[in-house]
Amino acid sequence: MKDSQARTIYLKDYQAPDYLVDRTDLTFDLDPHATLVTSRLKVRRNPAVARAEETLPPLWLDGSDLELLSVSVDGELLPAQRYQEKPGGLALSVDRAAFELEVQTRIAPEANTSLEGLYLSNGMYCTQCEAEGFRKITFYPDRPDVMSIFTTTIVAPATYPVLLSNGNRIDSTTTEDGRLRVTWEDPFAKPSYLFALVAGDLQHVEDHFTTCSGRTVKLQLFTEARNIGKCAHAMASLKHAMRWDEEVYGREYDLDIFMIVAVDHFNMGAMENKGLNIFNSACVLASPETATDAAFQRIEAIVAHEYFHNWSGNRVTCRDWFQLSLKEGFTVFRDAEFSADMNSRAVKRIEDVILLRTSQFAEDAGPMSHPVRPDSYMEISNFYTLTVYEKGAEVVRMIHTLLGEEAFRRGSDLYFERHDGCAVTCEDFVVAMEDANSADLKQFRRWYSQAGTPVLEVTDAYSEANGEYSLTIRQHTPATPGQNDKLPLHIPVKIGLLDESGSPLPLDASGREEMVLHLTEAEQTFTFNGIASRPLPSLLRGFSAPVKLRYGYSSAQLQFLMRHDSDPFNRWDACQRLALDSLCKLQQQYRAGAALESPDTLIEGFAAVLDDVTLDPALVAKMLSLPSAQELAEQEGDIDAAAIIAVRVFARDAIAKALEARFLARYRALDRRKPYTPAAEDIAERSLKNTCLTYLCAAGNADSLTLAKTQFERGENMTDTAAALAALVEFGPEEQSENFLETFYQQWQQDTQVVETWFGLQSGSAKFGALERVQKLMSHPAFDVKNPNKVRAVVAGFAMRNFTQFHREDGSGYNFLADQVIALDKLNPQIAARLVTPLTRWRKYRAEESGQIRVALQRISDSGKLSSDLYEVVSKSLGQD
Ligand SMILES: [Zn+2]
Repeated sequence: MKDSQARTIYLKDYQAPDYLVDRTDLTFDLDPHATLVTSRLKVRRNPAVARAEETLPPLWLDGSDLELLSVSVDGELLPAQRYQEKPGGLALSVDRAAFELEVQTRIAPEANTSLEGLYLSNGMYCTQCEAEGFRKITFYPDRPDVMSIFTTTIVAPATYPVLLSNGNRIDSTTTEDGRLRVTWEDPFAKPSYLFALVAGDLQHVEDHFTTCSGRTVKLQLFTEARNIGKCAHAMASLKHAMRWDEEVYGREYDLDIFMIVAVDHFNMGAMENKGLNIFNSACVLASPETATDAAFQRIEAIVAHEYFHNWSGNRVTCRDWFQLSLKEGFTVFRDAEFSADMNSRAVKRIEDVILLRTSQFAEDAGPMSHPVRPDSYMEISNFYTLTVYEKGAEVVRMIHTLLGEEAFRRGSDLYFERHDGCAVTCEDFVVAMEDANSADLKQFRRWYSQAGTPVLEVTDAYSEANGEYSLTIRQHTPATPGQNDKLPLHIPVKIGLLDESGSPLPLDASGREEMVLHLTEAEQTFTFNGIASRPLPSLLRGFSAPVKLRYGYSSAQLQFLMRHDSDPFNRWDACQRLALDSLCKLQQQYRAGAALESPDTLIEGFAAVLDDVTLDPALVAKMLSLPSAQELAEQEGDIDAAAIIAVRVFARDAIAKALEARFLARYRALDRRKPYTPAAEDIAERSLKNTCLTYLCAAGNADSLTLAKTQFERGENMTDTAAALAALVEFGPEEQSENFLETFYQQWQQDTQVVETWFGLQSGSAKFGALERVQKLMSHPAFDVKNPNKVRAVVAGFAMRNFTQFHREDGSGYNFLADQVIALDKLNPQIAARLVTPLTRWRKYRAEESGQIRVALQRISDSGKLSSDLYEVVSKSLGQD
């Protein structure tokens, strides 16, 4: 395995830039094969690093896949001996402390399949520059601590009537040869990763927003003509987000215009370029007929996330990429709170925690384990991880929990005020929180530097004679690659105590019924007085810290918490623990070759949940969902895929049969056939209704399949249609399933997003998503290996969401994934490096699977020269750094 350019970059080696760029003037003469880029930079020596009587250091400009045409300094063409093209950039010898530099390069957007830099998507020009894509456009100090005022001129044939860039449009003309020439200026200094350009034949919808100070901002959402009817939800979400950021954070939008563009070929979800957000079509376009509730909610969250970056990311940006969580952790926390305010708070929290527990905890325990602020990387694209984003958001949430709402706001106000227009660090964020509140977060900082998931072991004691109850909590964090010894963390543990009737007990003299324990030692005891009888603890309410918590709850205690806990998150969590306990017990029986026993305790618990009509239906749906196979796999070190699959199916079918009448009653009560709205209450009802439908079909009654068929044929909205289709495919007779899938495709084949849903439904199906079908889907005319959404729907759908078929005993799933990763690495290294993730977990499986997965991984390693993206992940997974 070779990669000549892969080298490790360390946080400790950070140095401020030698030169600053005050102004950046770019001119693009667009052509698919030969786009001419002229860059004029006002460069000066960085006074912060300059020393007297020095010789000026060379100016380093990053650049990759560029054809260099010319270099001039202050209007004079530079002779070749004054600059040197090296791997990864251009070094210029400098003879003055301030100068204007002009560089001309040629690039070929058509040939760019990495989707970094400037590329074409369905004939539309667009850019993606974070983290290091700008260096594929022109030679530039492509690092976030170089902030510059950008002016961008775009020249294109009249067939590209829409020409966009950051900031405000200041000029628009037609050239003598009939081409369009448009100039944009962004008055806010920004790093190159926030640069954006779009050119295409696009339509747009327009609206406006009046800010808190009374300014009118024009809002525009651009897309291809065929999608113009799918923009309303994103526009409404944008306006909600703009208002929320004013009310909750006091942040007002700063430009006169805010634009969003939908692009089909996109590696990520969306990108927060200043004033010109570029979105993956799937994360912005929706209509009730074509998008599921989950898509509606995802769009609302992502539109808000990218908008919130205007302050947390753009106005205050990162000094270097090790600080990525400064903008991402904070902004994910902000968008999670926004979604919680717009929808069911408890359900939003549950969804985020499921993601943490299944995927982020797995990352923490795997070969790519890293702290929220990594110490080193080979390829920064590999660090757009759940740890940086989701655990990073948990770290910000913990600060919020420790300080409280008002103090947190004081801290964020100070942070924005102090650092506006600057590139700063995670440390600066923590210091602002401390300074605004005279708080001490010294020990808390370890969350940024220490990798791994902490484990809390909780025991308790009760003395009836003294009326005294005590909780003893021990914390430890397992070793992770490169970090053997871990120090105790400052962990907020939110708790309550319940008496035998289920009522909350006062925890201290003030009478409060909930408090946050500050766990700072390796072992610590917390004592509560005046407790009349032995209480039941409700621990880690709202998942107040990203940890694994162990306390020896009995099944009866879990059922009690499910009924009585005043914290809805912990009600769900008790239900999940009950399910996990039942499934683990079944796994033991399975692995011992014993007959599987009906999970009666779990059935009893689920029955009580179904009978409680006072609970939010969305919460009920979550409570009735069994932990995923991936989550089960996380429970132990010696994963037996076959056992996990078998016991999940067994438990699901047992629950379905035992509670069939209840599921039917709830289904009928919820099947109201109201016109579609994406309002939280309606989404909640549909989620429970469709959970019931799935169980009904699993119970195997022909009448239930008729219900699903009716719901499918009614086709009232995509949420109900897709849920019915999924149930029919999973539980119906095979031949009919094929017909339903075909009918669905025929109806929706013109709609990109629906076709992606259709792909994902098959590749992720335990019954239908066999490898042969997945391979067939890859030769389907609607499949496009250069489109990441299609690859995610088909290949990742199979490898990451289809536990049953991917882990087939013959190892064919692993081999298939290895083939795809090798092929994709030549086209799009970022996607290849993400896709390989399931193979990196090989050490967690029992010997049979483990050996097969390792062979597949080794084959990737031996396949020739890998991109630095894939090289880093594969080499770390095989343990040969
Ligand atoms: Zn972000």
